[in-house]
Amino acid sequence: MVASTSATECLICHSCARWQAEGGYITYDCPKCGKYELPIPSDWDMVRPDQQVRISGWIREQNAMGIVPRIPLQTLRRVRSIPIPSLRKRADSLLVALVKRYPRFNDALVISTLCDDPALQATTYSADRRELNDLFAVLQFHDGYIEHRESGPRNALTVKGLLAADRLQIDNVDSAQGFVAMSFDRDLTAAWTNGFDPAIRAAGYIPSRIDAKEYVGGISDEIIAEIRRSRFVVADYTQQKNGVYFEAGFALGLGLKVIPTCRENEIEKLHFDIRHLNTLTWIKPEDLAEKLSQRIRAVIGPGPSI
Ligand SMILES: [Zn+2]
Repeated sequence: MVASTSATECLICHSCARWQAEGGYITYDCPKCGKYELPIPSDWDMVRPDQQVRISGWIREQNAMGIVPRIPLQTLRRVRSIPIPSLRKRADSLLVALVKRYPRFNDALVISTLCDDPALQATTYSADRRELNDLFAVLQFHDGYIEHRESGPRNALTVKGLLAADRLQIDNVDSAQGFVAMSFDRDLTAAWTNGFDPAIRAAGYIPSRIDAKEYVGGISDEIIAEIRRSRFVVADYTQQKNGVYFEAGFALGLGLKVIPTCRENEIEKLHFDIRHLNTLTWIKPEDLAEKLSQRIRAVIGPGPSI
């Protein structure tokens, strides 16, 4: 059932937002945060102002990839404490957002107006117009990506800026996410909590597993989307789930690095096709945490949170 779209207050930034209910979720469409979905009934805690910048920035990142994220409390708790990206990364996201809106060399940028744009503030993890103005200063005075002109439009992107935006839009180079493909059996819950999750965090990345987002079902668009926005995939073959083989193959097809793991007592069961891979074996979650963190640093390099 689709309820009619109505106006309400955004639960994150308190702007006036549109909402509609469908299939057990409420979809919010906020001029600042973008589009996100909440389960009904909502189980959210209050969002503090310092968390708001992180959550709305994260939602804008998902929206930019064509994803409307579902945000149950578990996800909210993870997202509200993500690190704010560096000044460099924030200026880079501003550049990419500007090029999307003003793709031509001579398009005029009215910086004083753009600093008040709620979507641009959220996209660049800026708390207010002053913080966004600082990012414009980086692009203009440090990078030379925006220039001030005597005639024609007063401010415009330079050729150097357009080319830099091209390079930045190469997929996944800046992704901070490590996706784990694994069996959801309760027997492996501790392997996630005390093994995969802390290993990926210790290597400087954000761990992601699809059932952590209250997903039920098989391979879905949501799994595909999660893998697409990851920097690498950890594929744990313990219990020999077909989904894990599929997800690992899909990630390899995208050009992502895949780190294979398996509990030691099942290593003999690995499918012939992947036996030649350098599979990381583990016995207890704690030893998995340590070995996997080292393997990620060696294969992918330390992540942005380090
Ligand atoms: Zn909002």
